[in-house]
Amino acid sequence: MKYYILFGPPGAGKGTHAGAIAQKYNLKHISTGELLRAEIAAGTELGRQAKALIDAGSLVPDAVVEGMIESAFDTIKGVDGFLLDGFPRNLAQAADLDKILEKRGEAVTAVIALMISDETIRTRIKGRAVIEGRADDANDETITNRIRTYHAQTEPLKEYYKAAGKYYECNGDQGTIEDNRARVLALVESIQ
Ligand code: AMP
Repeated sequence: MKYYILFGPPGAGKGTHAGAIAQKYNLKHISTGELLRAEIAAGTELGRQAKALIDAGSLVPDAVVEGMIESAFDTIKGVDGFLLDGFPRNLAQAADLDKILEKRGEAVTAVIALMISDETIRTRIKGRAVIEGRADDANDETITNRIRTYHAQTEPLKEYYKAAGKYYECNGDQGTIEDNRARVLALVESIQ
């Protein structure tokens, strides 16, 4: 099984390009953000607790997202691998993912990173707020905190995966959506 991580700041285009990558390589796309939003929409207790943290632009507890990831690995069959989007989000989650995979005799295959500037993060998220209606996209303070959370907690994963020789990066904000999709697909193809 392949275990790809789609990495990058909020608004980098992970959700926009995940479908094309997943389809091409028969992977199951798992977005922890989408799973959490589904819990909120369903009105579960987990969703209720996650909502306050998501609306503040903070991370939900590691155990919550790790439980979701493990249960997806346990239940999803008939694919050649997984494309993780929005997970891991800090070093503890990355170390726990290594342990979860090791238990299964597996390992992270590669990290595919989409990089954009902080300025692009803001314009992309604000544009998306109008289209998708996400509460955490509409508020300036939340966006600022998500950018801060990304730099403080998520960006250190670059070095973690570089040290493991698994880090592959491309630019996510040059040209049209199709240009960016072609670039990320070429990057994934280059590591096959
Ligand atoms: P996303 O859709 O990936 O931008 O995620 C939206 C929000 O869900 C984030 O700002 C976090 O509050 C929460 N979230 C998503 N994935 C994780 C994760 N791996 N760890 C902690 N919180 C997460």
